[in-house]
Amino acid sequence: MSKVLPQVVIIGRPNVGKSTLFNRLVGRKLALVDDQPGVTRDRRIGDVSLARMRFQIIDTAGWEDEDEATLPGRMRNQTEASLVGAQGALFVIDSRAGLTPLDEEIGRWLRAQKVPVVLVVNKVEGRSGQDGIIESYSLGLGEPVAISAEHGEGMADLFEALQPIVEGWDAPDMAEPAEDADPAAPLQLAIVGRPNAGKSTLINRLLGEDRLLTGPEAGITRDSIAVDWQWQDRTAGLTRAVKLIDTAGMRKKAKVDDKLEKLSVADARRAVDFAEVVVLLLDATRGLEVQDLKIASMVIDEGRALIIAINKWDVAEDASGLFNGIREALEEGLAQLRGVPLVAVSALTGKGTDQLMAAAFKVREDWSRRVSTALLNRWFDDAMEANPPPAPGGKRIKLRYITQVGTRPPRFVIFGTRLSELPTSYERYLVNGIRRELGFGAVPVRLSLRSPK
Ligand code: GDP
Ligand code: GDP
Repeated sequence: MSKVLPQVVIIGRPNVGKSTLFNRLVGRKLALVDDQPGVTRDRRIGDVSLARMRFQIIDTAGWEDEDEATLPGRMRNQTEASLVGAQGALFVIDSRAGLTPLDEEIGRWLRAQKVPVVLVVNKVEGRSGQDGIIESYSLGLGEPVAISAEHGEGMADLFEALQPIVEGWDAPDMAEPAEDADPAAPLQLAIVGRPNAGKSTLINRLLGEDRLLTGPEAGITRDSIAVDWQWQDRTAGLTRAVKLIDTAGMRKKAKVDDKLEKLSVADARRAVDFAEVVVLLLDATRGLEVQDLKIASMVIDEGRALIIAINKWDVAEDASGLFNGIREALEEGLAQLRGVPLVAVSALTGKGTDQLMAAAFKVREDWSRRVSTALLNRWFDDAMEANPPPAPGGKRIKLRYITQVGTRPPRFVIFGTRLSELPTSYERYLVNGIRRELGFGAVPVRLSLRSPK
């Protein structure tokens, strides 16, 4: 069965940047052209897919190339047609031109429609267009999202605003979106880390060309928020699709006073929204720092699969000492970081990058794995026999059975009685067992306890 995707329509008067935004969202892939009966012009439809969010975007540009005086009526017809069945609309205005009477008219009309509207103020690159943002509140369409479609700024905010519309949609066959995803689907990968860890260099190395500019300045113009590429898995003799999420490129205009360190944490936060697997890149010449641990635990807390890569291996002194030191620091640090894959790379020479990619695909597999209830309970019984749950006040806590209720990340529920008295150390014992013995490797595992009513 083909999946029905929620649809979002881009609306706005000519030249506000609708097509530019459409292209930015859809990426370089060619958009489908849909000859809808009754619509005099074609409309462009493109699939947008980022992390758990999948939707179709419809561009209404090109419907309004007649002179402006006759526009509203025509546009209304066309737009009305595309709004039928859509879950939401992006209403785009131009911050530089300011609000025009036509914007106001479209705004009034949209307010009367029964679809959620996200107000988008475009052409806000750098610090420009602030007046346009303030003016736009008068449309009565709520808080505007400031973006630059051309420069890719503000895209993360836009996705956030769209999230309730797209994810709140209850399509009949999408009850559990992205569950047990197709293993052939592109791996959604993000590379995060402190400034100068070598993220851009590594991305360029992986892509095999100078697609991203490297350099110390924040807010460099990027082409797109995600780059599609193919990794040659030489060991398996396969070509595997990867969608590299460019979190730095998704940044809102970097304010002059924003510290690069702070930006790297914000980038990691965004990565978590959009990626399945996050690679935290360390600089071998600096080792593991507090900031790194902060990023690492955030990635795990949010349920994403994490890999730690130690970069600049070519210039590392006492390489094996460093590697073991970091391994130990991870083991001693946060329990959830135990067993996280550690890979040494050199973005400069390319050493270790194949191992890194292989590890990324492997952790996604673990992260998406589902084990049978039978196997799970066989393990569960053994685990309880080896180390029975405690008996506070002489009465044993009864754990009856366990079942996997979800994947990506793997989620388990244990049914039993007197569960509120189960010590967290015992829960940890079970989670570690699941990870170690059931093939969930180092991915975050969620466990909840439920007493039957
Ligand atoms: P449409 O008619 O609404 O589809 O608008 P287009 O996407 O064709 O864009 C109209 C013009 O605005 C083009 O010249 C774009 O290059 C320009 N444009 C689009 N987005 C931006 C932006 O974020 N900043 C700036 N400065 N110009 C933009
Ligand atoms: P970003 O801020 O994380 O994107 O870091 P960059 O990719 O801009 O790299 C910062 C600096 O580290 C640059 O001078 C790179 O040439 C250098 N660099 C990156 N990777 C390596 C590596 O593997 N080995 C060495 N020796 N230098 C590297």
